[in-house]
Amino acid sequence: PEQLLARRDTHFATVQEHYYADPPQIERGWREHLVDTRAQVYVDAVNNVATTGHAHPTLTAAAARQWSLLNTNSRFHYAAAVELAERLAGLAPGGLDQVFLVNSGSEAVDLALRLAMTATGRPRILAAREAYHGWTLASDAITTSLGDNPRALETRPDWVELIDAPNAVRGTHRGPRAAGGYLADLDAQLAGLDTSRLAGVILEPIFGNGGGVLLPDGYLAGVFSRVRALGGVCISDEVQMGYGRLGHHFWGFEQQGAVPDVITVAKAMGNGQPLGAVITTRRIAEAFAAEGSFFSSAGGSPVSSAIGLAVLDVMAAEHLQENAKAVGDSLRAGLEALGSTYDVVGAVHGMGLYLGVELVTDRASFAPATELAERVCEALLDEGCIVQPTGDHKNVLKIKPPLVITAESARFVVSALDRVLARLL
Ligand code: PMP
Repeated sequence: PEQLLARRDTHFATVQEHYYADPPQIERGWREHLVDTRAQVYVDAVNNVATTGHAHPTLTAAAARQWSLLNTNSRFHYAAAVELAERLAGLAPGGLDQVFLVNSGSEAVDLALRLAMTATGRPRILAAREAYHGWTLASDAITTSLGDNPRALETRPDWVELIDAPNAVRGTHRGPRAAGGYLADLDAQLAGLDTSRLAGVILEPIFGNGGGVLLPDGYLAGVFSRVRALGGVCISDEVQMGYGRLGHHFWGFEQQGAVPDVITVAKAMGNGQPLGAVITTRRIAEAFAAEGSFFSSAGGSPVSSAIGLAVLDVMAAEHLQENAKAVGDSLRAGLEALGSTYDVVGAVHGMGLYLGVELVTDRASFAPATELAERVCEALLDEGCIVQPTGDHKNVLKIKPPLVITAESARFVVSALDRVLARLL
């Protein structure tokens, strides 16, 4: 592994960071487990892409079969892309029945922004601070998570209008009635803007980058109704939160009782195969004709679409959303119980199998325990458990395992964290 790491630094541009100072070399995966070249086994508690688990035989067979038959682009007419579009439209709220297939979350967000701009003929987008939406030029422009880019706030293009991060745990307005405060601030901000230039808003329905922080009740619906009243388009970025991970809901916006005009989805949808989608209304999709046509060489290819269909089949056959709910609820309870032993556990965020354990040095001020979070993650690796820190302060342990995780593996994650905290504190 050391030799390979040195080789990685030679030609694999080093801004492409890796987990851990001294990372294990991973050779294979199985369900929620990873195995390194020394035959050490880990519970992969960070992988929200491998929905169906690693190396699922149904996906392997679907990919192999489709590769052996045909892989080409979606200007050809074949079944898999049509069937996947039908399935996605069936999963979306009524009226959102037009599907664009792309290769990643960044592409889906980029396209969603362009759809909002084209459908309204306006340039400006509202986006929340502390969020991550992707790496392409447009999706990066609305990405302001300081953990990913410390200079993010200084370098936004002028079409981006940032709004406060609606964090009811550590933000400007806290507690159960925080939505009212954030929405009043938004009203004041909108009053000072030329809203005739507002194309729309993009929000994550739960703050993924913040470690799964739920939006305050009523916030998303409040933002959407304000933006719609101004003629703007409402985008829910479901790349991290959607697709069954929340257990209690298939889409994140359902948790907020809000309905978007555009949904972006990726990650879980392809279980690691490059696959993403934008789902929207016919009116918005057709307005894009003003931009000519839309085409992506590999987006919605037969192989990607066959894998996308297999993911949905496995999710249904193995009841993965239900598993996310049952195992997620007990995992959350186990993590919360650690809070009664360790004062550093300031909050447990999230829902289903997207959870965040926020480590603080002081529960009253909520001062972030950044350095401790990093040491905890390193120590968890030695315990056979892969967890990473997230958030602007990198003090939230994000726990978002494959949806196939068993209750036993979830208990292992809690006990490993318990051992590590006992040792380090
Ligand atoms: N949106 C959100 C909410 C994300 O979390 C991510 C990836 N972390 C993206 C978009 C970008 O997705 P991708 O990495 O597939 O380009």
